[in-house]
Amino acid sequence: MPLIIIILFFVLVFIPYLTLKKRDNPDLPTAESVESAEFPEKLAALIRIPTVSWTDESKVDVGQLTAFQDKLTELFPLIHREMEREVPDPYRITYKWEGSDKNLEPVLFLGHYDVVPAEEEGGESWKQPPFSGLIEDGILWGRGTLDIKSQIALLMETAEILIKEGFKPERTLYFAFGGDEEISGTKGAQRTAAELKAKGLHFAMVMDEGGVIAEDMLSFLKGKPVALIGQAEKGFITFKISARGESGHSAMPPAEGTVVSRLAEGTARIGKRRQPALLPPQIKGMLKSFVPHVPLPLGVVFANIWLTAPLIKKIFAGGRTTDSLIRSTQAFTVVRAGEQENIIPGEAVTMVNHRIVPGDSMAALKARHEKKLKGLDLVIEDAGNWPSNDPIVPDAGASQGYSWVKETLAQTHPEVIASPYLVNGSTDSKYYRELTGEIIRFTPLILSPEDIASVHGVNEKVSLENLNRALCFYRTLIKKL
Ligand SMILES: [Zn+2]
Repeated sequence: MPLIIIILFFVLVFIPYLTLKKRDNPDLPTAESVESAEFPEKLAALIRIPTVSWTDESKVDVGQLTAFQDKLTELFPLIHREMEREVPDPYRITYKWEGSDKNLEPVLFLGHYDVVPAEEEGGESWKQPPFSGLIEDGILWGRGTLDIKSQIALLMETAEILIKEGFKPERTLYFAFGGDEEISGTKGAQRTAAELKAKGLHFAMVMDEGGVIAEDMLSFLKGKPVALIGQAEKGFITFKISARGESGHSAMPPAEGTVVSRLAEGTARIGKRRQPALLPPQIKGMLKSFVPHVPLPLGVVFANIWLTAPLIKKIFAGGRTTDSLIRSTQAFTVVRAGEQENIIPGEAVTMVNHRIVPGDSMAALKARHEKKLKGLDLVIEDAGNWPSNDPIVPDAGASQGYSWVKETLAQTHPEVIASPYLVNGSTDSKYYRELTGEIIRFTPLILSPEDIASVHGVNEKVSLENLNRALCFYRTLIKKL
C-alpha cells in the first residue's frame, strides 16, 4: 500500500478520536448544596405504606394506594397550597405548577408509587423488614427506596423547598405519578396520558425512570461512574404461536405428527438463531461519550464506529447484557398443550416475548417469523396480554432534554461520565410518546452492581448521602428549565 494512503488512513481515524477526546464539560458553576434534615424521614414514611402491585390484581390492596396519596398531602403541605392537584382515583395523581411564561412548552416529570412484592428469594432474605423504612448508619432500607418512591419523594421535596424560598418556575411543570407501573400502567399512566392529550398539552420534555448513575459498570472506565441517560426505550411484543388440529386417541396418531410436534418444529426454527445485530444511535452515542476516558486504542475504536461497527457488535454479542442492547431479543416463555399422556390435544400454544431494538419493529419481526414458519400451518398473533409497542426514540433533532440533564450533572455530579442510553425494560413513559418529542429516562441515584441487583430483589436500600446529591440534581435541573 503506498505510504500516502497509510498516512491518509491514520489521519482519517485519528481526527474523530482527537475531536471526541477534547470534548469536555463546559465551565459551569458548581451547584448549591441542599440541606433537608426532614427528607429521609419523609421518604421512610412513604416506604412504610405497602403499595404492592400483584400480577393477580385481586390481591392488590387499593386502600394502600389511597393511603400513599393522602400521605403526600400530609408531608408536602406547601405543594398542596401552591399547585393544582388532580386525584381521579387511587391509581393516579397529577400536580400542575403554573409557570410565569405561558409561551414556553411545559415539562412533565413521571414516577410510580407501586412496588413489586418483597418476598424472600431463593433462600436469601431481607436484612431489614422491607416495609420498615428503617434508617440506620446513614442507610434507608426498604422496597421502593430505589424503584421508585425515591423519585417521587425527591421531586416533591425539591418543589417544597423551592416554594418555601419563594421560587416560581418560568416554565409550567407537571408531576404525574401512577399506581400500577409494575403491572403494565394501564390504570395509571395510560389514563393520565390520555387525559393530558385531550387537554391539548405538548411537553418540551417528559422525564421518567430508566437509567441511573452506574458504578463499576465497565472495567476499562477505571472506576468512573456512568450516568446512563435513557434517550430511547426498546419496544415490546409477545407473539402467541399456535398449532391446531384434530384431537384423538394417541394409539392412532396422524402420520405427519401431532400439534405438539408441529409447534416444536416452529419453535426450533425461530429459536435456533438470534435476531440480527444492529447498533442503535444511543449505543453509538454511549461509546463516543467514553472516548475521553478510555485508553488510546479503545478510544480510536469507539471514535470510528463507521469502521469498527462489526468488531463492536462481535464484542457486544459475547455478553447477555450487552447483547440485549444491540438486537431485538427473543425469549420463549410459555408452552401449553395436552393434559393427559394418551390423548392427542387439539391445540398447542407457545409464547415468545420480544424486546425490540431501535431500527427493528413489530411488523418486521412478525414477517421474519412468518417466513421461518412457512409450510407448518401455525398461527402467529400478538398475545395481547400486555400493551405492545415499537421502540420509542426521540424525534429527529430533539436534544434539549438531554442537554438539560447533561448540564445539570456537570454541576452536581462532575465526576461522572454523562452518556446516552437505551433502556432495556418498559416504563410508564411509553404512554406519553405522542405528547412530546423527547422522553428522558433517568434517576440521579448512584448505584453499585449490588444495588442494581436489589431492585426487584432483596435488600433494596439507599444511602442518605445519595439522596442528598439527588435532591441537589433536581433543584439545579428545575431552576434551569
Ligand atoms: Zn420502576
